[in-house]
Amino acid sequence: MHPTTQTALITGASRGIGRAIALELAQQGIQVALVARSLPDLQKTADLIIQHGGTALPITADVTDQQAVFSLLQTISTQFGPVSILINNAGSHRAIGPIWEIDPDLWWSDIETNLRSTFLCSRAVLPTMLAQKHGYIINISSNAGNEPRPYSSAYSSSKAAVTRFTESLMLSLQDTGIYTFAIHPGSVRTEMADHLINSPVGQRWVPEFRTIYAETQVPSSQAAHLITRLISGEANSLSGTLISVYDNLETLIEQAHHINNNKLYRLRLHKS
Ligand code: NAP
Repeated sequence: MHPTTQTALITGASRGIGRAIALELAQQGIQVALVARSLPDLQKTADLIIQHGGTALPITADVTDQQAVFSLLQTISTQFGPVSILINNAGSHRAIGPIWEIDPDLWWSDIETNLRSTFLCSRAVLPTMLAQKHGYIINISSNAGNEPRPYSSAYSSSKAAVTRFTESLMLSLQDTGIYTFAIHPGSVRTEMADHLINSPVGQRWVPEFRTIYAETQVPSSQAAHLITRLISGEANSLSGTLISVYDNLETLIEQAHHINNNKLYRLRLHKS
């Protein structure tokens, strides 16, 4: 049995999609630990939650740093108790351009922000989740991981890895009461999107994003709604898959047997 008041850790909760997820989970009575590197926007998310009667704990940390992740888990454990919901949302898409021109440190920094943080935070919460026999780990991936783009190689490689990591995690967590999903939050107009659309490097190398965001934009609340449904337990049979906000979750749940048998909604190499 899990405690009545659950605790969620949401990385990258200072703005954009992470803030929307934090607000929605807090609205449901879940106490939320909010993480980002800079405090002002993080504090704003916490203030919004507290103004609406929720419980929030803002913690500044770099989630690519193993020691920082260890310390933040200790702080949450002291203040709130065990984490039963982890939302690996912190992300970065800064390395844009041809592979032979890109700054290697910038390229690796996208990989670390998107992938290493997901691994470190999952690793940190899992011992307690395993002891409690309960938990959800939701990894914010992206359709970019399924669709290679020439000038976003770090982002698409790391998101493919996050999707694969999610399935590996599911396989290692069979019968533990812990479920994990990768989600695609849709095209959401956030600071990350603005950089793709408006920065000189974005306009030069990935101009297609202007059209993508104009045609398929969704509000950040859609990812939050999807997560609410996933942590309700109704889609546990789909653990390990990549689910998009554009998918019809009822249909996927109805087809879970077929999806799992045929390894759909996962990364696979199709051979003729
Ligand atoms: P965003 O507006 O740029 O927000 C990113 C968040 O991550 C911020 O709170 C940022 O705060 C935090 N962050 C970045 N690096 C961090 C680090 N090392 N340690 C701790 N926190 C860190 O991005 P977003 O658009 O909301 O994206 C959220 C997630 O959705 C990402 O994983 C992204 O890849 C994914 N996604 C977004 C879209 C989209 O259309 N927006 C589409 C598909 C997937 P600090 O800078 O203060 O640390």
